Amino acid sequence: MLNELSITEAADKLRKKEISAVELTGACLEEIEKNNPELNAYLEVFSDAKEQAQAADVRRASGENHALLGIPLAVKDNILIEGRRASAASKMLENYIATYDATVIKKLRDAGAVFLGRTNCDEFAMGGSNENSAFGPARNPHDASRVAGGSSGGSAAAVATHMALGALGSDTGGSVRDPASFCGVVGLKPTYGAVSRSGLIAMGSSLDQIGVLAKTAEDSELIFNTISGHDPLDSTSREISNSQFSISKFRIGVPRHLFAQGMDADVLERFEATLKDLKQKGCEIADIELPSAGLALAVYYIIMPAEASANLARFDGVRYGLSLRGENLQDDYAKTRGAGFGLEVRRRIMLGTYVLSSGYYDAYYEKAVAARAKLRMEFEKALESVDLIATPTMPTPAWKIGGKSDPLSAYLSDIFTVTANLTGNPAISIPMGVVAREGKSLPVGIQFTAAHGDESALFIVGKEVK
Ligand code: GLN
Repeated sequence: MLNELSITEAADKLRKKEISAVELTGACLEEIEKNNPELNAYLEVFSDAKEQAQAADVRRASGENHALLGIPLAVKDNILIEGRRASAASKMLENYIATYDATVIKKLRDAGAVFLGRTNCDEFAMGGSNENSAFGPARNPHDASRVAGGSSGGSAAAVATHMALGALGSDTGGSVRDPASFCGVVGLKPTYGAVSRSGLIAMGSSLDQIGVLAKTAEDSELIFNTISGHDPLDSTSREISNSQFSISKFRIGVPRHLFAQGMDADVLERFEATLKDLKQKGCEIADIELPSAGLALAVYYIIMPAEASANLARFDGVRYGLSLRGENLQDDYAKTRGAGFGLEVRRRIMLGTYVLSSGYYDAYYEKAVAARAKLRMEFEKALESVDLIATPTMPTPAWKIGGKSDPLSAYLSDIFTVTANLTGNPAISIPMGVVAREGKSLPVGIQFTAAHGDESALFIVGKEVK
């Protein structure tokens, strides 16, 4: 089936004119028809996908040759595509139509990619399982009674089941890497600032990055190279210059002191086996210490809600989306926000306003900011002695839908992913095999973190992990 090709393989066939973009897109659309009713990965499939593919074929016939020309991709529902709905999986924005293209969309459009549809996610990207979507969870393709992961669960499930050749997600504390690990695909969170955030519905602005879900590290590199770079519309964006690496000389640091609790034994086994394999390929494996990394979760769950509460203040029933009328303006706000936001979003807004309120600001927010700076220094120091830091991406495989109804237990699963967002480092999740649960084989991922701007190291190691 054509949709089972990787992007690199499909691009080669398109270039040789063995297949057309219309055929490739058609194969994805057929797969969507088969799988999506069960998996709920797409919230909307664009009715003009075939026409976009036709236009790509015309561009190729006239001599254009970009590797993504005619490649069908899925887009997380919090990234704006002009003229299309962008709901962030929230009732608040259920009928919101984007008025401009996100910069990443513009770049992919220029390259000639085909946008298949918008994918399910946790509401405003708040979650790690896709269960907080206002439109029902995306389900795990390996066991539909389990979560796809989150928040970019729809994008990961779509790529894992060949309902798209690749997808965009966003990652504030692991939302690309977590579902990549649960669904068995590659998930990249770029260096903070490597990819423009213009047109991404903001969650935590100092943490958010648009990332890539793909079948292979090659594919993720291809999309990353297309969407990265400085953008005048995002003052935190910049060009990054990648250094050169070679796999046989990699030094990989492992902070084993973080693995003490809460990790499933067979996940750790897969992790150690993967490292052993890399050692045989010539990598040097060393233990490292990241003394403050144990604080990362606490720091993240202060900074993220603080920023989210400020970002979500704009949804007031006046400017965007849902608008309910009450007795007076105050009442309009309360009605609109009460009806528009789900439970988890309201929880985070309350947490965020609490840690920013006078009296608690010094006790929580300011301390978290100081701890974040320390963490960043520790990562910088560690990455002077090693090229990569490796951990499992998630401490467990995908859990049962409804299995972590206590929000704290879900937050604890983010233990390995939030650090890269706090420090701004690039990180990637690569499939490292499967573990068995109730007779099903569930994928798990290994995470590598590199120095700022060293995405190339992630792609090189990612191509080696088998
Ligand atoms: N699981 C994390 C959270 O719930 C990460 C979310 C994200 O990266 N958008 O906040």
